[in-house]
Amino acid sequence: IPAENIRNFSIIAHIDHGKSTLADRLLELTNTISSRGSNKQVLDKLKVERERGITVKAQTVSMFYKYKGKNYLLNLIDTPGHVDFSYEVSRSLAACQGTLLLVDAAQGIQAQTVANFYLAYGQGLEIIPVLNKIDLPGAEPDRVLKQIQSAFEVDTSSILKISAKTGINIESVLPSVIEKIPCPKGSMTKPFRALLFDSWYDKYVGVVCMLGVVDGTIRKGDKVVSAYSDTRYEVTEVGIMHPEQLPTGYLHSGQVGYIVCGMKTASEAHIGDTFHHIGKKVEALPGFQPAQSMVFAGIFPVDTNDFKKMDDSIKKLTLNDASVSVHKETSNALGQGWRLGFLGTLHMDVFRQRLENEYEANIIVTQPTVPYRIVYKDGTTKTIRNPSEFPDGDERAARVSRLQEPMVLATMIFPDEYMGKMIELCGTRRGEQREYVYVDEKRVMMKYILPLAEVVTDFYDELKGRSSGYATFDYEEAGYEDSELVKMTVLLNSKPVDALSVILHRSQVDLVGRDWVKRLKGVIQRQLFDVVIQTALGTKIVARETISALRKNVTAKCYGGDVSRKMKLLQKQKEGKKRMKMIGNVELPQKAFYDFMDNN
Ligand code: GDP
Ligand code: MG
Repeated sequence: IPAENIRNFSIIAHIDHGKSTLADRLLELTNTISSRGSNKQVLDKLKVERERGITVKAQTVSMFYKYKGKNYLLNLIDTPGHVDFSYEVSRSLAACQGTLLLVDAAQGIQAQTVANFYLAYGQGLEIIPVLNKIDLPGAEPDRVLKQIQSAFEVDTSSILKISAKTGINIESVLPSVIEKIPCPKGSMTKPFRALLFDSWYDKYVGVVCMLGVVDGTIRKGDKVVSAYSDTRYEVTEVGIMHPEQLPTGYLHSGQVGYIVCGMKTASEAHIGDTFHHIGKKVEALPGFQPAQSMVFAGIFPVDTNDFKKMDDSIKKLTLNDASVSVHKETSNALGQGWRLGFLGTLHMDVFRQRLENEYEANIIVTQPTVPYRIVYKDGTTKTIRNPSEFPDGDERAARVSRLQEPMVLATMIFPDEYMGKMIELCGTRRGEQREYVYVDEKRVMMKYILPLAEVVTDFYDELKGRSSGYATFDYEEAGYEDSELVKMTVLLNSKPVDALSVILHRSQVDLVGRDWVKRLKGVIQRQLFDVVIQTALGTKIVARETISALRKNVTAKCYGGDVSRKMKLLQKQKEGKKRMKMIGNVELPQKAFYDFMDNN
């Protein structure tokens, strides 16, 4: 198929506006999947994605379509909608020339609609706005059309109005893609050059790389080189996703498809890398910034005997997700574990859920930390990802000049009646207002500079809670700012529990300190002795609670009685203990760690 009959496009939208549903309809329309198949949302492959209804990894699929007597090859690249994965969105967009900007006709434009629009706009893509869910009784297409006009200043005169669910106007989508989106602009005769834009680990063939071929042709058996690492590979398989891997023997200029070339781990596949033939030096394509971990947490097995098994599980999962950074960590409270870095808290939760689901591991996650920065008096800096690296009093006085924390620019969209509550929320999170505008008569878009640390905990839940679910939110990085940071520790009967330490802004110590001792009191069982729970800054106690002793003897009630029943009870108690961590002589349940933050 000549390049002028190829279109590479994606669908971008706020979460739940219908990307995956539209993708399914397009796959059915082009007979890529059967329309009677009950296997809905074929692009959402992972189990967590099905359970949570979100798309985590972008999936690409090639479709064949006949239009005005010509055969077209249409490559659809599905993108995740959530803020944590904007990195995935931008890399998928790099392989496209255009995108469908899908907007729910009842909900109107939302924070991620805005963020995704600017990502696509910044990459120079042709953007086709599409109103979805026009079948809904609450749909207000005219109002949403005005929002799109005022927010993005795009031409909406011929806007598509569809229902991905019921199929209304679905047949108008692909003709519009063909007419409006330019074909890829490579050359068939120049030496082979391709952009690596995604990869995953397949348990049968190893690492699979997705390429957007810019110039020339790649064939099975070719020897190729990575421009980034200069490593050589032999192509053992090449093909398109239709919707599963379909070998074709070659990919040429303008096509998007996969290759298998003997890579051992996903970390060998550098997203944004350029591939070319051996001995045929080409100019590297503009690459990407590598994904930055913005949230770090300690992860530990509940049962220390599971360390090896968990190590294997983590290795397997990171084979498939190179955006997770992994370092070993040892904690006095929790033993051996790992410090993992994630793109955001959803990314972290998804990873935890995968670990639990796919490998049946019972795990403890510590309170997440953002990357803080230490600026030394000699001008050097260091980024710390663990409260244990926080400088103590002496080091601080002698060497440290300032401490800094990462900031974000947050975009929020909500009905204007929630304005007061949103401003109050951002105020308590140390936010600073940058801008607010009305996107229509009733809806406000507000921008704030906020510390990332304030955003990664429960900000999103608070935002939803205070706006009856109507506010939406997205953010981008906005550099580092000086901050008065301190480290708060938790003591159980005077013993520090390192895994419960946190770095906080000074203004929040009292509140958080008091809150934590209360919450810990709520999850720690009474023991045979008094348990004193304290939070402290260095040697200064912030707050204190005591759990008074309890005489608890589970076998007492059946003395003299049935021995086997007694054994059973003892066994049960022992198993219960396995799920506990001992801090000195105090039993600390799994819930005392990250879980107690959201389950309060
Ligand atoms: P995504 O998060 O953008 O991928 O959204 P999904 O495709 O998963 O859709 C989210 C929800 O909206 C699902 O429950 C869909 O069934 C529903 N949905 C999608 N398109 C339509 C539509 O055109 N009309 C209606 N009524 N519901 C839709
Ligand atoms: Mg989806």
